[in-house]
Amino acid sequence: LADEDRESRPRLMLMGLRRSGKSSIQRVVFHKMSPTETLFLESTSKINKDNIHSFIDFQVWDFPGQMDFFDPAFDTTAIFGEVGALVFVIDSQDDYMEALARLHSTVVAAHRVNPNITFEVFIHKVDGLSEDYKIDTQRDIQQTTTDELADAGLENVQLAFYLTSIYDHSIFEAFSKVIQKLIPQLPTLENLLNILCANSGIEKAFLFDVISKIYIATDSSPVDSQSYEICSDMIDVIIDISSIYGRAAIGAKSQGYLDDQQNAAEDWTQQQDGHNDDEDPTGAQRSQENHSQAVVSSGSRAGSIDNQSTSQSGGNHEAFSVIKMGNGTVLYLREVNKYLALICLLRAETFEKQGLIDYNVHCFKEAMDQVFELKRAERTRREMEANQ
Ligand code: GDP
Repeated sequence: LADEDRESRPRLMLMGLRRSGKSSIQRVVFHKMSPTETLFLESTSKINKDNIHSFIDFQVWDFPGQMDFFDPAFDTTAIFGEVGALVFVIDSQDDYMEALARLHSTVVAAHRVNPNITFEVFIHKVDGLSEDYKIDTQRDIQQTTTDELADAGLENVQLAFYLTSIYDHSIFEAFSKVIQKLIPQLPTLENLLNILCANSGIEKAFLFDVISKIYIATDSSPVDSQSYEICSDMIDVIIDISSIYGRAAIGAKSQGYLDDQQNAAEDWTQQQDGHNDDEDPTGAQRSQENHSQAVVSSGSRAGSIDNQSTSQSGGNHEAFSVIKMGNGTVLYLREVNKYLALICLLRAETFEKQGLIDYNVHCFKEAMDQVFELKRAERTRREMEANQ
């Protein structure tokens, strides 16, 4: 089951020169390290296969050293064959000529063995650049890379560029876009989210990978960064509250879901690796504003997650939480399966019909189960055919 589970997750590889920021990205996105703590990280020195309890399968590779395409022992097929996306990190605050040369040779080597790979270039550490300089840098990197690839006869490689920093949400948003390309069920998921929003008066709905706070799908209304940020902050709030107060405090407010509360805190918080927002120089203030606004005005009701509750069961042991904010917006969170949570933004007036919303979300979850179940069935069928 573990293998099957693993295979159905999108696979990502993170590469780049030493000190470009790979380990920091990994720690901040998948281990909730605060960005300032990354200053003291030791540089990546070996292939880092991270065992993340997340929807996403993720590896970090380092230049130079690990990647020598001219070494005959270097097995490019094994390395690039199964990867969905290759994320290449470039330090925008440094001279990036060498990085661009590495990027070029990587794309050439990887594309040869796996033409389906998507290449994603993170122009990273842009927090230190002015707006104008950011745009110029992106233009320059984009132009140089595509020109060189065209000269090498590779015009139709899938290549995308993002401006990222670990000091704000840009790194999460970039990852969200990268991951979404790797999910074959994406159009179906978006469609389901559209139906859910239309029938429930929901303004915006995100499907989040809880551990990384990357969203893997959303309805087709435009995404504004603020709604993404507030939903991602909600995950932090829920995890913090459950881990601080655990069973007793939330239990007193929750209506019924007492038994599994401890599991909830443990399940979603065991990934928290030295989580401390307060030291984040740029992100902290914003997220604290959101937190206090939400908590002060909320009759917040947090539910539970059952560690063991399977993604297929559809039982009522899943996490559930509602935060009402001062500005008349309601945030509604519901666990979908062991990796994913649905978070919706809606008006308080709409939320008066909570029964309808609960019911529609329940239908959405069932449909989601079917989507992933079908995929599993399809794979089993293909495997059986292959074995015959
Ligand atoms: P690696 O060798 O590629 O794994 O690089 P590290 O993750 O060790 O990062 C090298 C340095 O870059 C560290 O001091 C980080 O704090 C810093 N860094 C990483 N990401 C960012 C970013 O987005 N902005 C800024 N200003 N510094 C960053």
